[in-house]
Amino acid sequence: MNMTEESRIGQAMHDRLTSLYPICRSITGNGVRETLSQLQSLLPLHIHEVSTGTQVFDWVVPKEWNIRDAWIKNADGVRVLDFKQHSLHVMSYSVPINQTMPLEHLKKHITSLPDQPDVIPYKTSYYQEDWGFCMRHRDLQELEDGVYEVCIDSSLEPGSLTYGEYYLPGQTTDEIFFSAHICHPSLANDNLSGVVVSAMLASVIAAGPQSRYSYRFAFIPGTIGAITWLARNEERTQRIQHGLVLSGLGDAGAITYKQSRQGNAMIDRVVSHVLSCIGQPFAIQRFSPYGYDERQYCSPGFNLPVGCFSRSPYGTYPEYHTSNDNPSFVRPESLAGSLNTILKIVEVLEGDCIYLNTQPKCEPQLGRRGLYRELGSTGENMAMLWVLNLADGKTTILEMAERASIPFAKLSGIARTLESHGLLRRVT
Ligand code: ZN
Repeated sequence: MNMTEESRIGQAMHDRLTSLYPICRSITGNGVRETLSQLQSLLPLHIHEVSTGTQVFDWVVPKEWNIRDAWIKNADGVRVLDFKQHSLHVMSYSVPINQTMPLEHLKKHITSLPDQPDVIPYKTSYYQEDWGFCMRHRDLQELEDGVYEVCIDSSLEPGSLTYGEYYLPGQTTDEIFFSAHICHPSLANDNLSGVVVSAMLASVIAAGPQSRYSYRFAFIPGTIGAITWLARNEERTQRIQHGLVLSGLGDAGAITYKQSRQGNAMIDRVVSHVLSCIGQPFAIQRFSPYGYDERQYCSPGFNLPVGCFSRSPYGTYPEYHTSNDNPSFVRPESLAGSLNTILKIVEVLEGDCIYLNTQPKCEPQLGRRGLYRELGSTGENMAMLWVLNLADGKTTILEMAERASIPFAKLSGIARTLESHGLLRRVT
């Protein structure tokens, strides 16, 4: 991508994120459906509904939660809290309630952050039936003693869990898998950045020439959605050769890659190599059984080669899980930079192969073939010598790139030039 294209795509992803931002999503319900239906204008997503009560490994698909309105009114009938102002105001999965109660009692159901008095926190209670509100601490302190009317017009009933999937067939059935969570309400970096980058990535790959790999993009509610997807696709997971969980891709932080549980899977090596070549700070973390849905994909019964690709890791920035994780916290250029890096990873996965040097006894005479002229710079000459030396019919281009500390794309381009001069033959 050139600079103009990158900034156009970054802005398009940010626009998409801004339009998805107000929707009140949760692990089930109409917010997820509406989000997926907006994505369908970009991708022919297949939408799956899995009924409440369905057993998925050790879990059960929960009741479906929907919310229409919620408020707290003071004795004068004035709304001192209004769900329509911000979807974070209601604890996700709150059961319906309509009661009057003294402030003292109501406060037991209100969460605020005294350390960050101007933000609304994000809270959920998926598996324990309860109700609650989230408020700016400053607003909470202004509530006067007295009686308040509280209403949460929600429903928690048998229904289904919804997820979206896009499958793009390639030349082989081996798959590259991308997963993004879509269960957070108005939170931008945490959930929506992964959603919009994943959707754009899918449309860019779909618009290109047919790929070697097939691609599968999952847009799923965190944890229970990943568990449900795995339970319904257990056989198919054997096709997954490489995968990434995409999340937190729009903040200003450096790219952070959390390795798969395997630690030395090809995806782990490819991401390390690509990050080491982009000339920007980055961090690589070993696997740990916490974080996003890599927890499920890398559970021992699956142990898939799936890492987690993000910028600032979850929970490390003050905006995390608060109303300050909003569209202005997300930068179009960060979204575009994340997408561009993932495309480079895909390029390596797609393009890695093995060559054999057809003139392996001593160096071939390059000057006679015009190769020193064709590959002008010292850097290119060095790369050419590495390729010729390591093209032993066993070493992959990625292994050459790692050993020579030369970007994959450069070695791959030079290998094609050498092939056209008959000095290399492609083995795989
Ligand atoms: Zn989160």
